[in-house]
Amino acid sequence: MTTSFPAASVLGYPRIGPRRELKKALEAFWAGKADAASVEQVAADLRRRTRTRLAELGLSTTTPAIPSAFSFYDHVLDTTALVGAVPARFADLVGPDGSLDLAGYSTVARGRGDDLPLEMTKWFDTNYHYLVPEIGPETVFSYAGRRPVTEFAEALADGVLTRPVLVGPVTYLALAKATEGSPEGFSPLDRLADLLPVYQAVLADLAAAGATWVQLDEPALVSDTLAVPAAAVTAAYQALAGATDRPTILVAAPYADLGDQLATLAATDVEAIGIDLVRGSAPTAAVPGLATKTLVAGVIDGHNIWRADLDAKLAILERLELLGAGAVTVGTSTSLFHVPHTVADEPALDATLASWLAFADEKVTEVVTLAEGLVEGREAIHEALLAASDALAARAAAPGVVRPEVRARVSALTEDAFSRGSFDARRAAQDARLHLPPLPTTTIGSFPQTPQIRKARAAFGKGELSAAQYEDEMRAEIGRVVQLQEDLGLDVLVHGEPERNDMVQYFAENLDGFSVTQNGWVQSYGSRCTRPSILWGDVTRPAPITVAWSSYTASLTDKPVKGMLTGPVTILAWSFVRDDQPLADTAFQVGLALRDEIGDLEAAGIPIVQVDEPALRELLPLKTADQSAYLDWAVRSFRLSTAGVRADTQIHTHLCYSEFGEVIEAIDGLDADVTSIEAARSKMEIVDDIAGHGYPRGIGPGVWDIHSPRVPSEAEVETLLAGAVRSIDAGLLWVNPDCGLKTRRYEEVTPSLEHLVAATKAVRATL
Ligand code: GLN
Ligand code: ZN
Repeated sequence: MTTSFPAASVLGYPRIGPRRELKKALEAFWAGKADAASVEQVAADLRRRTRTRLAELGLSTTTPAIPSAFSFYDHVLDTTALVGAVPARFADLVGPDGSLDLAGYSTVARGRGDDLPLEMTKWFDTNYHYLVPEIGPETVFSYAGRRPVTEFAEALADGVLTRPVLVGPVTYLALAKATEGSPEGFSPLDRLADLLPVYQAVLADLAAAGATWVQLDEPALVSDTLAVPAAAVTAAYQALAGATDRPTILVAAPYADLGDQLATLAATDVEAIGIDLVRGSAPTAAVPGLATKTLVAGVIDGHNIWRADLDAKLAILERLELLGAGAVTVGTSTSLFHVPHTVADEPALDATLASWLAFADEKVTEVVTLAEGLVEGREAIHEALLAASDALAARAAAPGVVRPEVRARVSALTEDAFSRGSFDARRAAQDARLHLPPLPTTTIGSFPQTPQIRKARAAFGKGELSAAQYEDEMRAEIGRVVQLQEDLGLDVLVHGEPERNDMVQYFAENLDGFSVTQNGWVQSYGSRCTRPSILWGDVTRPAPITVAWSSYTASLTDKPVKGMLTGPVTILAWSFVRDDQPLADTAFQVGLALRDEIGDLEAAGIPIVQVDEPALRELLPLKTADQSAYLDWAVRSFRLSTAGVRADTQIHTHLCYSEFGEVIEAIDGLDADVTSIEAARSKMEIVDDIAGHGYPRGIGPGVWDIHSPRVPSEAEVETLLAGAVRSIDAGLLWVNPDCGLKTRRYEEVTPSLEHLVAATKAVRATL
């Protein structure tokens, strides 16, 4: 059974397709315009394309260097289907053999009627979202889905020996939530012993089909928040490695340092361990047990797009060899599905910038090159080492990467640039200026992106619409949105963000130091993709960005208008960010550009500015020890953006998630006058957190869950609000939806906002 692990491999590859083929096929299927067989065909073609491409790039087809890691929607949902843990509300979708067909699988992901889909949440510290398994004491596990085996067999029939990739059992349970009604103290991980036989059966089946290696992904082992007990790791891997009918096992631990869990794994009988050497570091002393294992060294960054310093990476690999592992092979730090396919697909990108980048395909080449260097010696890859060093030197010296005036401005900052003075004084000045009623009503910024808006933007992009025509279209839309808000009786108006395709890309397109890609899509969840911008240089703001839109809006109404910006942390989180300086430095540069924008909004008479930071929680490091340093710069970059305004200018922020309690100190630290936050799904549970903390500034817990097409009734909103005013000082409470409305339709938005305003009036009358 002991075949050695391939010298070069990657942990995974993009699954959505270079032209988002899978997205298009799935969405056609959901719309009833294509049948399941056609989606299966697109998927099979994509899998074959991936295998062919990876082989062309130099990964071996006879040792399992090529991962078999496809997913139709989400790899965690795949595991749920694999182990038969589909929640009871979807039991009717499960076939007689326990499996889900594509329609059933899609329904579990997307919900139907009153059957809510599985909850979606962020995958470690990335912008990918997985579907949260629901596991209770009553969950019956069974080997229910055969996809890993059929996809392995499909590749083998094609002449490629792949390495099936599964979410490991520990991570699967650690990411699950307990089903409703589970007893106090129950944790899904308590079910590990019941789940392991299913994994044993899957591994036996894979071995029978001819798989020589399997990859079990265990990122939960790197997270301090999940705090997986070592005993669970030992139990899982002794059981899996102890079985005789199985492929050889690689346990991969991406996203951060494996820490002490490396020794835990090394003490089991698994054959290989994959460690993240981009976010994590190599052990400095010999680890007992490692002598019999292969260390798969994740030196190439799977999560960012910069060309690697091959010389430095090779040095890391050479040092690893001294640790006395049975073997050291070269890999990626994470799966490559966080990066786009290839730089070669970006003809419009500046050639100099392109030469600094490595997307998935280029990363495979880096891995193959390093493996060659490790096996045959430095000399063998001399040219490649030089080329990488040259590119790096060119990048460091390129115009725009370092702008002395930006550096000088950041280093000249003093403490007062981060502070707005007392909230009480601000509050009095703002009250005197804004004259808002108690429980002011507002929205989070965007209104529905109608087909008409999308069409205008596409036509403008293709040059079919002139800038002036496009502006007219957007102004007309702003006029409609303002009129609607007036009719509804909202108190603080927005312009609706029709001109924004995406809340980060819009700013990236209007700031210097960023570039945008044409085809650089990465999966965000299911069929949804984002195209992160590339933040490569020092950031400056060549001209005001939002001021004309906000001023135009203000000219249409007597109500106060709120300007809308995306905050520095979110701009960083949803872009590919330069790796040649600390994130904090980059965040401060973005913060200064936003500060200038806010200053211009203020000068134009806009009395309220909202700076959205929905990604504040997402970037929180997985290691407790790193969290306070992160929160410190994250909070300071927000304050740097916002602290330049007068006391009577009101600063709002918006945070998307409901884990208010987890980062409440940081939220407090932002010192925004008003904070809106998601709350409706959890029926305003966070109100207790807010009250418990004695949160001292304006707060708008969302009263309408905009993630679902449901229109909340007036009575429902009134109940939520009445509950909130019982716990929170009514003088601080704002009324708003959970998030922006851009993905909703007016059929839902208009009645929901009517109910929100009417419920507010009813509760106001009781104050
Ligand atoms: N202002 C943005 C909007 O309304 C905020 C979106 C977000 O937080 N994700 O769309
Ligand atoms: Zn939001």
